[in-house]
Amino acid sequence: MPVGLKHLIQCRCILPTMKNRDNAPLHKFKVFSIQDKNQIIEKLVTCNNCGIVHRVHEVCKSEILHNVEGTKSSVTIEDISLMLPETVLSVLNSYEKELPDFEHVKFMIDENKVGDFITLSQEFNDGRKTGKVLKYKGNSRFEIEPFSRSEVL
Ligand SMILES: [Zn+2]
Repeated sequence: MPVGLKHLIQCRCILPTMKNRDNAPLHKFKVFSIQDKNQIIEKLVTCNNCGIVHRVHEVCKSEILHNVEGTKSSVTIEDISLMLPETVLSVLNSYEKELPDFEHVKFMIDENKVGDFITLSQEFNDGRKTGKVLKYKGNSRFEIEPFSRSEVL
């Protein structure tokens, strides 16, 4: 059974807001991958800051590909949107979710991952984490559910 996971990969660029700092950290961004039989299915993703293309071949590991144009070789939110039901699409857009969440939602529908969810919004207050998730109910149906739980730090 394939599973979907989100992980961070590191680019060679630095966010504009960090540029003036000494030892500014290299930019990291979230990607969605499908893992099957303990192996990540290789894919190309475009850095959301500098636009360079990465070949993602392991969890948290990627290799930069030069001379590859991102818009032609990696999936975009626009592409995924064409394949999602209107209702869930408007939820994703109204919560300003990013590409990995769009991909995860498509994966839940494709693989019928009932019970899988993405986080729509969350906040931390007095040791509690509260927010809302978008949970898959099967048959291309989703529900928004609030949650609240204490976080042990
Ligand atoms: Zn970059």
